[in-house]
Amino acid sequence: MQRVICHWTAGHHKASEDDKAHYHILIEDDGDVIRGKPTIDLNAAPAKKGYAAHTLNCNTGSIGVSLCCMALATESPFNPGKAPMTKAQWDKLAVVVADLCRFYGIPVTPKTVLSHAEVQGTLGITQRGKWDFTRLAFAPEVKGAKACGDLLRTAVARLL
Ligand SMILES: [Zn+2]
Repeated sequence: MQRVICHWTAGHHKASEDDKAHYHILIEDDGDVIRGKPTIDLNAAPAKKGYAAHTLNCNTGSIGVSLCCMALATESPFNPGKAPMTKAQWDKLAVVVADLCRFYGIPVTPKTVLSHAEVQGTLGITQRGKWDFTRLAFAPEVKGAKACGDLLRTAVARLL
């Protein structure tokens, strides 16, 4: 596996069946970690039937981790909606990503540990207006895909 791409589900605080179909790993509002249906192995090149389709044209070699949150959220003006991202989810995300980096030997760089919102700008693969994540509901002062991604990478690197 070459990279970890971090998302939010745009759903509720608990992992739904649909959430489990699209990601390898889900993190609920209290930090509970839930395994999705596709195994990470299915996304190894060449991607196999039943792979996790989490990032348009960028699923091969990509592990998809998603925070269960942000139902009915809007980017501008920012409204975190009915299920705002929690600090517990964010903190657990760093732990999960650090474990994955250690296990698969993935370095912590902007091209290998990133959010979905960074895929278009950093990897040059067009996405359809994805903003997971350009804002953090528990830290409104952090703004923009890079600021959020840098915060995540710093937290992951500290754990390694
Ligand atoms: Zn996403």
